[in-house]
Amino acid sequence: MRVKDEVGVRCQKLFQDFLEGYKENGKVKYLEAAIELKNPDRNTLEVSFEDIEKYNQNLASTIIEEYYRVNPFLCQAVCNFSKDHGEAKGDKEYRVSIVDVPTRLNVRELTTARIGSLVRISGQVVRTHPVHPELVLGQFICLDCQTVIKDVEQQFKYTNPTICRNPVCSNRRRFMLDLDKSTFVDFQKVRIQETQAELPRGCIPRSVEVILHAEAVETVQAGDRYDFTGTLVVVPDVGALTGAITQKMSNHKAGEAADAGIRGLKALGVRELNYKLAFVACSVTPTSQRVNK
Ligand SMILES: [Zn+2]
Repeated sequence: MRVKDEVGVRCQKLFQDFLEGYKENGKVKYLEAAIELKNPDRNTLEVSFEDIEKYNQNLASTIIEEYYRVNPFLCQAVCNFSKDHGEAKGDKEYRVSIVDVPTRLNVRELTTARIGSLVRISGQVVRTHPVHPELVLGQFICLDCQTVIKDVEQQFKYTNPTICRNPVCSNRRRFMLDLDKSTFVDFQKVRIQETQAELPRGCIPRSVEVILHAEAVETVQAGDRYDFTGTLVVVPDVGALTGAITQKMSNHKAGEAADAGIRGLKALGVRELNYKLAFVACSVTPTSQRVNK
């Protein structure tokens, strides 16, 4: 049994009402873009924060303050909106990209007090990593009773079901990932850093790792400056590990991959998980020349 998140549920309803009802020049502004999401290559609906503010100030404030908590509900609202107006086809991930967040911070201003809230940061890309598939929803098969366990959410690391959903089976360990029925999304890490111009005298430049998904991958180039909108999160520091697992998952059959994942932890000598901060971005735009902070 899941605990219902009242704030999340309320946000989902308000956001869906916003998508259905927000008009520009007499037209429902986000309808066309939402219908386009039926294209298999598309996941993300871009929404202007200024529009949300105009529609409902409370909703806008909740999204800013509790972004990490309510984002899954916003994505569900996009999913419903898109499916209500298009052909409902298969399972896929829907995402919201929020642009036009008014306040812009530089890398140095991104402190732990901001964890979970929606912010826009600006920085120069100093490193880009290769794109790889990230498992977002796993479908597992219980190796004891063959029960299929759908929609196991994966957050930053490979996550087995906690227990088999068959009430007469108590398996908590032996599961196989069904690759063909699991949902993946493109994933890319980049590193951004503050520029010499914004560096306080005598200080070493600060940098932060930015995680991009879906349509946002491969949109930035090292050396250029961009605005990233999203949130600072605490993630398990298993970079090498998750990379190894997803690579194996894309190359091998499900059983081997699941096995490799489990053995991989031991093989790498990981005894405890370390944690680090990363910025998960939902939107990327080139930083305009004009500084309009
Ligand atoms: Zn079972």
